[in-house]
Amino acid sequence: MSILPQKYFVEKIGGDLVDVAVMVEPGASPHTYEPKPKQMVALAKTTIYFAIGVPFETTWLAKIAATNPNMLVVHTEADIKKIPMRGHHHQGTELEQDHHGIRDPHVWLSPPLVMIQAGNILQALLKVDPAHGPVYEKNYNSFMKELVVLDGEIRAAFEGKGKDVEFMVFHPAWGYFAQAYGLEQVPIEFEGKQPKPAELHYLIQYAKERGIKVIFAQPQFSWQIAQTIAKSIDGQIVFVDPLAADWDTNLRRVASRFKSALK
Ligand code: ZN
Repeated sequence: MSILPQKYFVEKIGGDLVDVAVMVEPGASPHTYEPKPKQMVALAKTTIYFAIGVPFETTWLAKIAATNPNMLVVHTEADIKKIPMRGHHHQGTELEQDHHGIRDPHVWLSPPLVMIQAGNILQALLKVDPAHGPVYEKNYNSFMKELVVLDGEIRAAFEGKGKDVEFMVFHPAWGYFAQAYGLEQVPIEFEGKQPKPAELHYLIQYAKERGIKVIFAQPQFSWQIAQTIAKSIDGQIVFVDPLAADWDTNLRRVASRFKSALK
C-alpha cells in the first residue's frame, strides 16, 4: 500500500490474516516520494497493492504493477468524488480551479470517505481470500461502527461553531475533512508551490482581518513560511499530521486542535 493510514484501514479489516508493508515510510511525503529498490523487490511477493491516488502513484503505479503480474492492484479511492485542489488567492477570491486537472488526493482524512475505502478494501480481501470471507466481513462491520462513532464525535465537536470556520494550513491536506464538518481550509501552499512575496503579504493581511491566530503545519513539509506568517500575525504554529499511523487517535487530536483554533 502507499501510505501509513491505509495500513490502519487494511489491518482493521484484515486483522491477523494480513501482513502489510507501506511504501511511503514515516517522515516521507507522498508528494515527492520514490520507492526504494528494496521495496520494488518486495512487491514480487505481494498479493494485493492498495493504491489510494497519491501523487507518487502517477509515476510509479504502472511500474509497481509491472513488478508482479499476479498482484491485484486495488484503487481504494474508487467511487470517491474528488474535489479540485483549491488555492487561496489575491483579491479575496478563492478560485475553484481545476488547475492542470489536479484533484485533491487526501481522501483518507475524512471518516465518511474512509467508509467508502473500507468497502473497497473488503471487496479486495474477499476476492483474493474468499475462505476467510466471514472474518473480513465481521471485521469490516466493526470498523464501520467505529467510523460512525468517530464521525459522530467530530461532527458534534464542530456543531454550533458559529461562522468562524476558517483555519489556515501550510499544505492543503484537510479539504475533505473541512468539507465533512463544515469548515473552511485556507491553504498557504498551492500544488507544492510556496507563496510568492505578494501572496505571502496577502495571506498575512487575510489572517489579520479574520483574526486567525494559528497556522497549521505538518512534519513532512518545511514550515519556515508558516513560521513567517505566524510571527507576522503574532500567532503560533500548531502541527497536524495527515499521515500518522494511529489514524483514529490522530483524527481526534486534529479535530480538537482545529476546534481550539476556531475559538
Ligand atoms: Zn498532501
